[in-house]
Amino acid sequence: MTGFDLAKAPHVLTWELTRACGLKCRHCRANAIPKRNPRELTLEEIRGVLTDIRTNFAVPPLMVFTGGDPVERDDLDAILRASVAAGLHTAVSPSVTPLLTRPVLEKWAEIGVKTVSLSIDGATPEVHDGFRRMPGTFGASIQRAHDVKALGLGLQINTSLCGDTFPGLARMGELVKELGATSWEVFFVVPTGRGAVLPKITPGETEEALRFLAAYAQGVKFRVTAIAAPQYRRVTLETVPGAKRPSIPAIREAQGFVFIDHVGEVFPSGYLPVSAGNVREQPLSRIYQDSELFRSLRDPARLKGRCGVCEYKSICGGSRARAFAVTGDLQAEDPACPHVPEAEPDPSSPLKVVA
Ligand code: SF4
Repeated sequence: MTGFDLAKAPHVLTWELTRACGLKCRHCRANAIPKRNPRELTLEEIRGVLTDIRTNFAVPPLMVFTGGDPVERDDLDAILRASVAAGLHTAVSPSVTPLLTRPVLEKWAEIGVKTVSLSIDGATPEVHDGFRRMPGTFGASIQRAHDVKALGLGLQINTSLCGDTFPGLARMGELVKELGATSWEVFFVVPTGRGAVLPKITPGETEEALRFLAAYAQGVKFRVTAIAAPQYRRVTLETVPGAKRPSIPAIREAQGFVFIDHVGEVFPSGYLPVSAGNVREQPLSRIYQDSELFRSLRDPARLKGRCGVCEYKSICGGSRARAFAVTGDLQAEDPACPHVPEAEPDPSSPLKVVA
C-alpha cells in the first residue's frame, strides 16, 4: 500500500446491497430482514456509483459486496459484472443459505470475482450454528469453503469475536488453516445492532485475542486482520520480535474504509451508524474526501482520552465505532483497549480501564 493516501481514496469499500437475509445471526449489524426493501439502490444507481469510484479515486478500492445476503438480489450477477468491467477488484460476502449453491459460485468465478468471504465463527457446529441460529449452517459453510477453493477463488474466512466465540479462537485458527483460506478477518464485535446484547469480551480478553492473532500471523502465509481493533498494530509492535512501525495510519472508519448501505447512505463503517450523506444526492468520492464527518475521523488531533495522548495514535487511533457505541462520542478513547499511554490523558475523559 505504499503511496496510498487514505484521505483521497478508501482502501476497502463494503457495500450492503440489501438487508434481506434468510439467517437471523445473533450479532447482525444490519438487523437483517426477511424481504428486500423497495427503496434499495437500483442497478442503474449502482452503476453510477461505480463510475464515480473509477473516475475519482486515483487508486480504486477493493470492493466487497455484502448484505444482509447479497444473493437475495436477482440482479447480483449484473452488479458483479459491472464492478469487474470497471476494473475493480471484486469480492462477495454471501450468507450461507440454500441460495448459495455451487452453480452460483461457478457463475461468480466466470464473471471474474476474485474472493468470496464466508463467515465461520467457531470450529464446531455447536458454536457456529448457535451463533447463526440456524442448524446445519456450519456443515454447509465448510462445504461452500471447499467449493470456493476448488473453483480457484480466494477464500476469506470472517470470524465474529465476542464472549461466545472467544474461548474457541485458537481452534478456529486451526480450522482456517485446514480450509486453505487466503485471508482471515476477525471482527471484534461492536455493541451495535443485534450485537448490542451479545456477551462481551473484556479489554484484557481483547488484548489476549490480539496477542494470539499477532503470533498466529507469524506462522501463516495469508493475511490476518483484526476488524474494529486497530490496536492490533500496537500489540504486534509490542509482542512480535523485529516488527516494524507501519508508515501509514491504520485502516479504520473513514480512514481507508467506507460503507454504503442498501439505500445509499454512506457511513464510516457498518458498525458506526452516523451517515455522512447519500449517494443519491452527492458523489461518494465527495462524501469520502470532503464531508466533515469523514475528515474529522481522519484527524488524530481530535482524539480524546487515552487515544488522544497515546504514542500509537498515528498508527492506531482506536475503534471509533466502539467509542461511539459505548460513549456516544466519536472521538472518545477506545474502551476495549487497556493500554496506558506514557502521557496523562485529559482528565475530562470519563472512561476508566477495566482489564
Ligand atoms: S490507547 Fe487508543 S490509540 Fe493507543 S493503542 Fe489503545 S486504542 Fe490505540
